[in-house]
Amino acid sequence: MHCPCDPHLIMGRAVFLAQQRFDLAVVGAGATGCAVARDAALRGLSVLLLDRGDIASGTSSGSSRMIHGGLRYLMRGQLGLVRECLNERTILCRLAPHLVRRAPFVIALSRPAWREKWPVRFGLGLARQLSAGAEAPSRVINHAALADLLPDVATESLRGGLQFEDCVTRDARLCLEVALGARTAGASVATYLEVLGTEIRDGRAVGVHVRDHLDGEEATIACRAMVQTLGPWTGSLDVGGVGDAPGVAPGRGTHLAVPAFVPADTVVAALHPVDGRYVWAVGMDRYTWLGTTDEPQPDDPDHCRPSEREIAYLLTWLAHYTRTPADHVFLARAALRPLVHGTSRSRDFRCGFSDSGVLVVAGGKITTARAMAEEAVDKILASPALREVVAQPCRSAEVALPGAPPVAMDEWIERHREVPLAPELVHHLLFRYGRRATAIFDRMRADARSGLPLHPERPEVPAEIDHAVEHEWARSLSDVMWRRTELAFTADRGAAAVSHVVARMGRLLGWTPIEAQRQQIRYEAEVDAVLSPLGRPVPVTPAPVPFAI
Ligand SMILES: Cc1cc2nc3c(=O)[nH]c(=O)nc-3n(C[C@H](O)[C@H](O)[C@H](O)COP(=O)(O)OP(=O)(O)OC[C@H]3O[C@@H](n4cnc5c(N)ncnc54)[C@H](O)[C@@H]3O)c2cc1C
Repeated sequence: MHCPCDPHLIMGRAVFLAQQRFDLAVVGAGATGCAVARDAALRGLSVLLLDRGDIASGTSSGSSRMIHGGLRYLMRGQLGLVRECLNERTILCRLAPHLVRRAPFVIALSRPAWREKWPVRFGLGLARQLSAGAEAPSRVINHAALADLLPDVATESLRGGLQFEDCVTRDARLCLEVALGARTAGASVATYLEVLGTEIRDGRAVGVHVRDHLDGEEATIACRAMVQTLGPWTGSLDVGGVGDAPGVAPGRGTHLAVPAFVPADTVVAALHPVDGRYVWAVGMDRYTWLGTTDEPQPDDPDHCRPSEREIAYLLTWLAHYTRTPADHVFLARAALRPLVHGTSRSRDFRCGFSDSGVLVVAGGKITTARAMAEEAVDKILASPALREVVAQPCRSAEVALPGAPPVAMDEWIERHREVPLAPELVHHLLFRYGRRATAIFDRMRADARSGLPLHPERPEVPAEIDHAVEHEWARSLSDVMWRRTELAFTADRGAAAVSHVVARMGRLLGWTPIEAQRQQIRYEAEVDAVLSPLGRPVPVTPAPVPFAI
């Protein structure tokens, strides 16, 4: 019999899961839900993690991709939050060194610079104190050094910069890795299983009603306790009386993916020429991730799109600091910050129980998701629903994530120096899969064609698609194009790779030609959503190739 956490199991999941009773059901598999599921599974609970879409398909794939020491909190004097960010960042670097990387951050200083320089320098010095000297000291770089570091940035209006170290990540892959950690610890993970409602008996939440989006089945799955981690969708499900559960007022943030103008794994911030806010440019491998904005999102979180105003704002920054024409921008993506009502200066998240005993967790960020999860699991273990369950102490800060290499990252790279593949491809795989990269190398050794590039602008290879389907719950074309790989972050939004990916996934998942077409239509709708805010029509992608090829 298949286990529900087996990524091969596609049909009949709801009914299968309904035959069991879990200690804990975690609803929502973004950064927060994945961290809660992993923490609880590591303590020995039987855990079910559910999402109505893919892992990290909500806010957690639309962040600024920084695992940061909390510079913003520093400037606001929220020192408790800074300390927590610094601590969690250190833990993440240890748990997932292949995905959380130290990177040079530069705050570009405009002329006259003194007004920006001293507060930021003071803040960075304070951060160093708070980390007991573990932070590298910041340094001032002059205009010539700034121009050398950023040859594609127009530095005429800048005087120099303040350089320090912080961390960057690939948000969707980091969440996936945490979900893999939950599975390794024994949790069942099911994507595309939407929770429609809560089963309440004698005033207590005892199960979830679910609909499986892969086969249409509905069922009720029993659990002793439930945690909701719905990010901006907090409050969308009935929890049998709000009680002490937090509510959110989502704020929208938009990013642009732009042809690379910042070196990979380097981050630059410069003041916006109009309102003097910092805009951050994060160097990914072959593009730059530029953002962000901060707008209220008054309506349905399902209809979160960048506004014309946000696009114009980011394009103005781009025109001021780069020579990138606006029509070269690859895409615009908006995501919603789950901002919580009534947080204090020392907390930016809250967890509280509904009247029926559902623990609702909201707010925070990817950087601190592990710490939020620890607090949430402590709380749910102390609740009447789980008081009888014998649980182990929290181990989420000690147990490495499954992809963490067995040795330091530098040595892991050194060990792969002789792999007979292009160094860029080896680097790409090691910094996404860590120790799991060996499984991809094995696939390429067995079938040389699975090591050929899928797209002329990207390093991804077909072996990664097979791995994503067989080991990482990839179920739709979108899962692969946006979150398992970055094939969509190109000038053609991945069009050159689409037919190949559809054919490969279709073979593994048994898609009929109609299903293959449906996948492609859905992906095109998503491309429309990231292109039309830029005022551009969606180009037609080639039809899928027949599966026999
Ligand atoms: C623009 C922007 C930039 C940011 N930058 C950073 C950064 O650089 N660093 C950082 O640390 N943090 C950053 N953050 C914050 C961080 O991204 C969020 O705090 C975090 O991703 C929220 O995760 P979550 O799990 O709470 O929510 P989500 O990731 O949104 O997860 C909620 C999940 O619930 C699922 N769901 C909804 N309804 C149902 C249902 N009925 N049944 C089942 N599942 C359901 C959704 O599909 C979704 O996957 C940023 C946020 C934004 C918006």
